[in-house]
Amino acid sequence: MTRLSPSLTRREFLFRAAAVGGSALLLNTMQAWGMGIASRTDAPPALSGSGKGKKVAILGAGLAGMTAAFELSKLGYQVEVLEARPFAGGRCQTARKGFSLQELGGEPQTCRFDDGLYINHGPWRIPLDHQSTLYYTRLFDVPLEVMVNDNDHAWIYMEDAGPFSGKRLRQEQVKADMRGHVAELLAKSVQAKQLDTALSADDRMLLLDYLEHEGALSKKDLVYRGRNGAGYAVNPGAGLRPGQPYDPLGFRELLSSRVGKVYSAVQEFPMHATMFQPVGGMDRIAQAFAKRLGKKIRYGQEVQSLRQTGDKVTIALKDTGSGKLSSVEADYCLCTIPLSVLRTIDGGFSDRFKEALKTVSYAPVGKIGLQMKRRFWEEDDQIYGGHVLTDLKGINTISLPSSGWQQKKGVLLGYYHYALDAIEASALSPAERTEFALQAGEKIFPPYRASFDNAFSVAWHRVQYNLGGWAEWDEAARKSAYPVLLEGEGRVLLAGEHLSYLTGWQAGAIESAWQQIEQLHKRASA
Ligand SMILES: Cc1cc2nc3c(=O)[nH]c(=O)nc-3n(C[C@H](O)[C@H](O)[C@H](O)COP(=O)(O)OP(=O)(O)OC[C@H]3O[C@@H](n4cnc5c(N)ncnc54)[C@H](O)[C@@H]3O)c2cc1C
Repeated sequence: MTRLSPSLTRREFLFRAAAVGGSALLLNTMQAWGMGIASRTDAPPALSGSGKGKKVAILGAGLAGMTAAFELSKLGYQVEVLEARPFAGGRCQTARKGFSLQELGGEPQTCRFDDGLYINHGPWRIPLDHQSTLYYTRLFDVPLEVMVNDNDHAWIYMEDAGPFSGKRLRQEQVKADMRGHVAELLAKSVQAKQLDTALSADDRMLLLDYLEHEGALSKKDLVYRGRNGAGYAVNPGAGLRPGQPYDPLGFRELLSSRVGKVYSAVQEFPMHATMFQPVGGMDRIAQAFAKRLGKKIRYGQEVQSLRQTGDKVTIALKDTGSGKLSSVEADYCLCTIPLSVLRTIDGGFSDRFKEALKTVSYAPVGKIGLQMKRRFWEEDDQIYGGHVLTDLKGINTISLPSSGWQQKKGVLLGYYHYALDAIEASALSPAERTEFALQAGEKIFPPYRASFDNAFSVAWHRVQYNLGGWAEWDEAARKSAYPVLLEGEGRVLLAGEHLSYLTGWQAGAIESAWQQIEQLHKRASA
């Protein structure tokens, strides 16, 4: 083999580490070498000048629309937010007692959870990386609490996992044993100089030191014999109870079961801890905006069409209560209606723009909240928040609530599915969805069915005014349609999660609004 330059050797080494230990080991190795990534947008644009005397019609009172309205008002613009729903927030919704939803072609559902209980059936997590969302929770004093997004003590339950099929394993056990075995293998290879003779002696020492720590290997012979982080079969206690550690899961069994693939050394961006949630429900953010915008938002106003004539934009509206038609005229329009809906509206756009609107697909997504009479996951299994990882068809995850610890009842997330799974389940009635979720959940938690109280489910692709969970761009559409939509047309600009690289996140909606009001202000000030 040709001798490579030191930097190339390091890269090649990382490549090999990934091949042996998967991305988890690769990322940990990178971190051990101090290589990191960071990028943030954490405040609205500082705009100078004034919008006095100019009116902006904002279509949609989701987070993008309300962010724009809030910031443009500060600049002196007259804003009018036109919202079809009777409430603000768009997808930023929370189902609690009395909340109702009727999917297109579906039965009406009214949430029957006990007072104080809720499910965030739309957005549920605020990652630390989303400083834009956190900017407003801080500004508006929306109290936050930690959302337990990663819980080593939660179960992994796989039906197609070879020797571990149908068995509940703690994530901590799988993590500890998988990493221990991989670290042992790699450490022995490094020690035997099998991996890469081009690694410097110093790097070899550092890597061995890291692997001993990573895999809890014995210094003497670099063997993994288990670690207490994997948990105990019997926990230590007082008197004559030293505890009984688990025997490590075998490397071969772990490999053939593939359960090691359910975790990674670090969470994907933006799933890093610390993850937050607003105390009492995600819609607290929407309510905080709505309170500040007051009468600037007009509810029950469904946008029917847009027309641009001269230096004005005219928006035709239908009152969803009375059916009365009206119109609003403005100097500019910022449209935050999801593209899945906007393409069904007569916007008077050019063919090129209309074509661009059609290019993006929207994710079918579904969630179900199940109120349980007893928090058996805490009482019986000591699982406080986090996700149960499973391959049970159509479930994806069962997630336990991150609030109300040790109370009597709780609402858990019974499934959170996408794509085909979401489409299939959305064809079921609410009662059938509940049954589907119970049949799966009781395989993992025996008291599931007996503890069940009532449920609330949503299939976002069947929700009017959304018609999908979030925009899903492919590479080609990012190149062709995305720049066209970012530009807007004439006096109409677009904003929303769909015009960001943070699709499916509230931060995408907020940062898109920040970006587009800057553009709008530039045009209006020209
Ligand atoms: C299941 C699910 C899970 C998610 N999880 C997270 C998460 O954990 N964390 C996170 O940060 N984000 C999450 N998101 C994404 C987040 O909810 C969205 O990115 C964000 O709320 C989108 O805001 P928006 O203003 O762009 O659009 P929307 O909130 O959809 O706002 C658009 C507004 O336009 C209105 N509208 C539509 N049509 C018309 C019309 N004809 N006339 C008038 N008004 C109209 C709608 O009623 C709505 O109020 C999740 C979304 C879903 C669906």
